[in-house]
Amino acid sequence: MGKEAALALVNNAALLISLAVIYSALYIRFKKEKLLLQKIISGLLLGVIALAVMMNSWELSPGVVFDTRSVVLSLTGLYFGFIPSIITVIMTSAIRILMGGSGAAVGVSVIICSATTGLLWRYRRRKVLHQMTLVELYLFGIVVHLIMLFCMFFLPDDPRKAFFSITAVPVMLVYPIATALTGWAMSNKEAQLKGEEAAHELALARKRLAAIVEASPVPIISLDMGYNVTEWNQAAEKVFGWKRSEVIGKPLPIVPEEDIKTHKDLTEKTLSGDYQKGTLLIRERKDGSKVVVRLHNATIFNEEGKPEGILGILEDVTIQQEAERALKESEMRFRELYTNMNIGVAIYKVGENDEVVFLDMNPAGCRITEVSRDAIVGRRVEEVFPGIMEIGLYDIIIQVYKSGLSQRLPLKKYKDNRIAFWTDNYVYRHGKDEIVVIFEDVTQREKTLEELERRVKERTAELETANKELESFVYSVSHDLRAPLRAIKGFAQIISERYSGALPPEAGRYFNYIISAGENMSALIQNLLDYSRLGRAALNIERVSLAQAVDKALDTLASKVKEERGKVTVEGTLHFVEADAALLNRILVNLIENALTYHVPERPPEINISSMREDGYVFLTVKDNGIGIDRKFYKKIFEIFQRLHSAEDYPGTGIGLAIVRKCVDLMGGEIFLESTPGEGSAFSIKLKEALNK
Ligand code: ADP
Repeated sequence: MGKEAALALVNNAALLISLAVIYSALYIRFKKEKLLLQKIISGLLLGVIALAVMMNSWELSPGVVFDTRSVVLSLTGLYFGFIPSIITVIMTSAIRILMGGSGAAVGVSVIICSATTGLLWRYRRRKVLHQMTLVELYLFGIVVHLIMLFCMFFLPDDPRKAFFSITAVPVMLVYPIATALTGWAMSNKEAQLKGEEAAHELALARKRLAAIVEASPVPIISLDMGYNVTEWNQAAEKVFGWKRSEVIGKPLPIVPEEDIKTHKDLTEKTLSGDYQKGTLLIRERKDGSKVVVRLHNATIFNEEGKPEGILGILEDVTIQQEAERALKESEMRFRELYTNMNIGVAIYKVGENDEVVFLDMNPAGCRITEVSRDAIVGRRVEEVFPGIMEIGLYDIIIQVYKSGLSQRLPLKKYKDNRIAFWTDNYVYRHGKDEIVVIFEDVTQREKTLEELERRVKERTAELETANKELESFVYSVSHDLRAPLRAIKGFAQIISERYSGALPPEAGRYFNYIISAGENMSALIQNLLDYSRLGRAALNIERVSLAQAVDKALDTLASKVKEERGKVTVEGTLHFVEADAALLNRILVNLIENALTYHVPERPPEINISSMREDGYVFLTVKDNGIGIDRKFYKKIFEIFQRLHSAEDYPGTGIGLAIVRKCVDLMGGEIFLESTPGEGSAFSIKLKEALNK
């Protein structure tokens, strides 16, 4: 080999190295994007290299040039793929054709065959290019160059002979090695980049995992093989109270003293592959309080697959546990209530065709209906209680089942040939098809009520009779007392008038006492008679003008008004009421008279009479500026003979307001009192309003 050929070889080698450089610079790094443009640029660059290779060829004999294009093109096919290969093939073939000579056709076929071999190889091994061994690449080089050797047979005689006698052997020795070495450099580059990528991915995955652990709402803790804490996330800080910095590198602080041994056993179990999947454990917080946790754990392995530590996820289920316990307790409480209550509860299921079947009945229910639970569960209600249709309970059950609205079956007597009792039933729907009937045996209560009612009626009748007797007694006594009293009063008057001169002055005074006491007594008797007469006469309810009634009463009391220097004002227009005129007159006279009587000495009575309509009723009010009445006497003053003052302070018999109340009662009205001691009182009576005729 001449000096020139040696130089060409060196140049070829350099160009092959640049192939590897392009591969890593352009192709692998941007592999992900896989842009068409990038493929085209690679193709052009590879074309240029191949051209450079061809320019650095050596001429074996005139027209037969030789170079390393087979290496460049086969590797282009293998590592760069279809598009760059096509471009390179076109560029190099065109140049080879332009260079001309007898070996042009063979030269082009070498170009095409090399690129095709590379592409076919790539087709089989594209996923593992970075793993290709030197041996495989050498084999690839041999195949490519055997094909090239084959192409050489088609050279014209001279160059073929020259080739096979001079070049074939060195080519077959050197070219596959060059192919293998260049390919290996490219594979290594790819492998190295793959490794970097993997490391990058790993670092990313680690970061992602750390973020997940940190953000986890559930405590995540890991331990090393010495059982010291290596991981302690935010949730762990929150649940257990220790800060990360307080626990990292130290023994797990949450294990209660008494559990240390079990914790160790558990950890060893986990290391031996027996993982915990939701084991309930009691752990401790920093403040000493207990936490119930559900533990899920697993062993952490290092790259060599050896155990490196333990990772535990500890779900805080304290509240859940507490809620479950409370639920159980409440369930127990209600069950006890259900079992021990005195009221019957029957639970039914309503099925197809409105079939009502017993699901359950509480002990009270069984007691009341005299059945045993086992004997009725699963049976139809009408089979167990044939009388259920009659009292309408069956219909109500169906209605409640269909509407979902609870209903109450009014008191009914249940009867069949076995039992009979009075019962009150409340029916409601539970869920979609369950009906609950709550019932009571109220037979005893009903009997007691009946008895009570009977007794009340009896007593009322007795009282009415007694009252009537008493009234007629009062009437006759008062009536009979009038004649002797009249005699006492009359004779006392005669004596004091006729014999006034003959009597000592003291005796005259005594006679005057007798006369005034007699007058008081006749007023009392008259009032009593009036009181007991009230209601004997038939009521004559008619439309009465309050204005006229008030005028009439004021006429009656004109002298008293004058005497007391009273001032009576009637406010606005008074209304018409449904009343008995005589009774109304009594009411008005009594109320106005009292208003005139019970005034503060030195303060002449001022009386205001008014009326007000409300909801078909009229309120007639007599208001004064008198001494007023303490609230505690409001009820008392309406009772007969009840007075708040002595006869010396204010004259009276204590019957007036009793008469007022009786009159109001007789007319079906009501009476109200509002008073402020020292300021005045207002008596109101409520009567039906008379509509205009
Ligand atoms: P009498 O006026 O004959 O004593 P009443 O039955 O009319 O009997 O009244 C009972 C008591 O109610 C009176 O003694 C008086 O103390 C009190 N009373 C009645 N009307 C008034 C009033 N307008 N102001 C203050 N007290 C009154």
